[in-house]
Parts: sequence; C-alpha cells; structure tokens
Amino acid sequence: MNPTDFIKQYAKHPTYKAPTGHQLNAKSWQTEAPLRMLLNNLDEEVAENPDQLVVYGGTGQAARNRENLEKIIEMLLELDDNHSLLIQSGKAVGVVRSHPEAPRVLIANSNLVPAWANWEHFEDLKSRGLMMFGQMTAGSWIYIGSQGILQGTYETFAACANTHFGGSLRGKLLVSGGLGGMGGAQPLAATMAGSVFLGADIDPKRIEKRLETRYIDKMTHRYTEARDWALEAMKKGENISIGLVSDIGDLLERLLADGIIPDILTDQTSAHDPVFGYVPNGLSLAEAEKLRLSDPQLYKQKSLKSMARHVGLMLDLKKRGSVVFDYGNNLREFARQGGESHSFDFKGFVPEYIRPLFCEGKGPFRWAALSGDPEDIYTTDHALMEAFPENKQLIHWLKQAREKIAFQGLPCRICWLGMGEREKAGLIFNDLVKSGKVKAPLVIGRDHLDCGSVASPNRETEGMLDGSDAVSDWPLLNLMSNTAGGATWVSFHHGGGVGMGYSQHAGMVVLVDGTERAEKCLRRVLHNDPAMGIYRHHDAGYEAATKVGERFDLLI
Ligand code: NAD
Repeated sequence: MNPTDFIKQYAKHPTYKAPTGHQLNAKSWQTEAPLRMLLNNLDEEVAENPDQLVVYGGTGQAARNRENLEKIIEMLLELDDNHSLLIQSGKAVGVVRSHPEAPRVLIANSNLVPAWANWEHFEDLKSRGLMMFGQMTAGSWIYIGSQGILQGTYETFAACANTHFGGSLRGKLLVSGGLGGMGGAQPLAATMAGSVFLGADIDPKRIEKRLETRYIDKMTHRYTEARDWALEAMKKGENISIGLVSDIGDLLERLLADGIIPDILTDQTSAHDPVFGYVPNGLSLAEAEKLRLSDPQLYKQKSLKSMARHVGLMLDLKKRGSVVFDYGNNLREFARQGGESHSFDFKGFVPEYIRPLFCEGKGPFRWAALSGDPEDIYTTDHALMEAFPENKQLIHWLKQAREKIAFQGLPCRICWLGMGEREKAGLIFNDLVKSGKVKAPLVIGRDHLDCGSVASPNRETEGMLDGSDAVSDWPLLNLMSNTAGGATWVSFHHGGGVGMGYSQHAGMVVLVDGTERAEKCLRRVLHNDPAMGIYRHHDAGYEAATKVGERFDLLI
C-alpha cells in the first residue's frame, strides 16, 4: 500500500492500529511483521500514552517522534528481504545490504558510553531530539500490554507463596505501589495466586484502565474504604484486588498506623526515572507535571527524598513481619541516593525467586497473532497443552489466561518456557501456520528480562555467585547470537527497567510464517537464545545451569 494511504488508515496520530488479516501491506511477512508490531505497540488498547508515543515503563517509546515514526513505517512498507533497516533510538537512519535469513530490522536504543550514561545527559540529548528511551519492549516493538508481565508476576507471587506461606496465599494481603503498564499486572497476578491485593497509584486514570481491562476489581479514592474492603476479604478468604488513588508512601504510613502489616510488600511505581516517572509525595499530578518541566533538579531532589521515605516505611513493615522484595524498578538505589542508607536491606525478586528459572533457560516467551484473530491464539494454547502434557503449571496458566485475560491490541500469549521447550513450541507454531490451522503468521519474541539477555546489577544480575553482576558482554553476545541465528528483528538497549546507567539488554523477535526459511531461523534462534542463559549462569558457577547445559550438550 502506498505510505500516505497506509498512514491515513493505520497511523493517524494518535490513533494507531495494526492491520489484521492475511493481506500484506509491506513486501513480505518479514517486514509486515515488524510493521504490525510497531503499530500494535502504539494501539491505545496497548500503549499507556499513544499521543507521546509512550508505550509503557514511564517514558518508554516506540519511536522518537511522529515524523520519525512515519519514516519508519514508510521504510518498512518498501524494504525487501535483501536489506535491513537500521533504527537508532527510534529513528530510521539507514539501510544495509543483507539476505533473507538476516534480521530485517536492527535496533539500538538509548545507548550511551558508560561515563555519560546518566539521566541528565540522556535528557539533554532527548530535549535536542537526538535520543529516545526505548525501555525494554517499547522500542523493540514486542510489548503486548499488561499480559506480558502478568505471568512473570504470577510466577513471582507463586514462588513467594511457596517460599514463605506453604504455597497458599488465601487470606493473605499483598500490597504494592504503581498500577501502570507493567505494575497493572500485579492485581490480577495476585488474585490468580490467591491473595487479597491492595495497590496505590497516584493517577486515577491508571487504575481506571486496569478496571476496564479487568485486571483489578475495585477502585476508591478513600483509604478507609480500601482498608475495610481488604480486611473483609481477608477474613472471608476471598481473593479480590483493590486500587487506591494515593501516594504509595501515604498508604504504607496509614497501614502502619492502623497496625495492618501486609504479608507481602513490593513496589512497581516508575521509580527507575526520578524525574519523569516517580511522583514525589505531597505533589498533585498537575503540580508534578509542572515542576518536572520548570525545575527538574528540584523535582529529582523531592523524588529521591520521597523514595527514601517510601523505602523507610517498607523497612519498618519488614521489621514488623512483611515479606518485602524489590520488584525491578531500582527503587532501592534512588532511595539510597535520597538518604535511606539501609535501602538494600531487602533483596530483589530475581535472586529471591527467578534465578532458578533462569538457570533452566526459562524466561518470558511470548507470541502474537498477526491475523488479529483470537482463535489463532486459542489454537496455539491448545497445541502447547498437547505438546507439554506433563507441565501442569503451564496448563493451569494457559487455562486461566484464556478465562481471565482480555486481549489488548493483537491477540497474544505469554508463558515461561525453557531450554528445549522454546524451540519445540516454535516449530509446532510454524507447522500450524503452514497447515493453515493458524490463519496468518505469528511472531515469537520475549521480554529483555530473560535468562541470558541482560546485565542489570540491581535486578536480573543482582548478587551473581561470581560477582559478575555488571558484566555486559553477555547481552551483547545474546544480540550477536540472535543476529547470527536469523531473528527477524533484534535490538540492544540501555537503561530498561532500572533506568539510565543501570542496565544493558538485548531483544529479539522471530517470524513464524510457515516457510522453510522460518523453520531454519526458529531452530537456530530458539535454541541459541535460552542457551545464552545456560552459558551465562554456568559460567557464573550455578550448578543447576551446568546440569541443564550437560543435558543439552551445550558445555564446552
Ligand atoms: P508506568 O509508568 O506505566 O507506571 C508507573 C505508575 O506508578 C504510574 O501509574 C504512576 O502514576 C505511578 N506512580 C508514580 N509515583 C507514584 C507514587 N509516589 N505513588 C503511587 N503511584 C505512583 O510504568 P510500568 O510499566 O508499570 O513500570 C513500573 C516500574 O516497574 C518501572 O520502573 C519499570 O521499569 C519496572 N518494571 C519491572 C518489571 C519487572 O519484571 N519486575 C518489568 C518491567 C518494568
């Protein structure tokens, strides 16, 4: 389709919609797939703020600005399978010669030379139109709405239940802050895991969005109402979720004053960005918006101080019995900078609950149906249940997901699969497309939060056995292996999850179009990608990873 007509139909700012069905707009599925996924990231059902091209995670964008977005669309419509498009922080900057099994799009977002890698330098570049923040899956075009984080959150809460509560969260209270793009998965994950959930968000619109998508059950502006709903549900053993419009610190303070000690306490406010993410205590949303722009330095000071208070309250609740963990937003680091010297007295969720999964090459495998037809996802769900009958947890998840998850944008699914399982699933999906049981191609991708794709010392690589937390050769090797293997688009980002200076990570998405070419790429990519997790954890001295490495004959 000619770019002007296409943009009019699918990308009329701020209303973005991925095309659906089996008709191509681009020259092949290899370019149609990234085009659809880019637009899907910006679909108002998916993105937190399409007007600013913000997908999730504070300021995580899909493209640098409107003009650059339109250029990317135009390029993808025209690109053939012997070329690859280069994206630099959300801007199309060139096309290189390649071949049909090479990635069609090569993406680098938000990368800065280490000594310059801080928010101040980044914001300066951003204000001059030279960069954008890609978060993890925003700038790499494989964000799939809150479902993306839902299973990971569910797994974490379930692991926490197993570790501390004999496997059951019935009658237990889980408290957290932040109900945005990712944090919005917490209420549903918590109730799926069996607990009562009480979460605070300062922005009522964010909670309303969770109500619309059925991720949360109830909302109120009044603390006492939220508290009473929670206490009653705990007494009755009901698992309901409650969103309170409030600063999270204020909620914790009031719970402490009332002697209500959450069984589990964590946080997913956008603390990774103390200026454009976290809202300091005492400011209204409108005041925060104003101050961010008029005096970012003062805003940051207030934010850091607020985070120190917030973490101080978490530490008080920990002393009184709450199980407390950091949920990957770098809150502890900024609280430390704000004056809370004990902020690292609780651990992050990866060393606490997720690392054993990483040692098996497990991570957030996800896929989307480019047809737009939910039936295609149900067909893949069914195929996975047949392929992994022994995996009861997976089957339980897939059944619950079908029942409880409202699709946002293109229908998609996520489940954590490990070494061997990802390749098996990918090949099954390719056969489903080939046989026409699935009506149009699928794409398979994952979060950058994966077993072998990220260096993030306050999160995914916190407390590695050999102290190699900050070594970022690993995500670079992951990027290179996925490029060598023939993923359809690959990406390397800086700052996702925990903010500028604190992480580097790689992403990949691979097309499943039923062809032999796809089969070859899937065999390579879906082997190499989890194998990177095995290499990384085996090298760091994790016996569990060594065992999996031996089983799959990976070790050298
Ligand atoms: P988001 O920006 O969409 O949502 C953040 C929410 O926090 C917003 O709704 C905002 O109103 C709220 N908020 C900010 N300050 C607050 C305060 N003082 N009190 C109450 N609410 C406040 O971000 P997101 O996509 O939900 O991500 C949240 C954080 O989690 C980010 O730091 C992100 O990097 C991190 N994250 C963690 C994981 C993980 O696996 N654990 C994955 C992705 C992202």
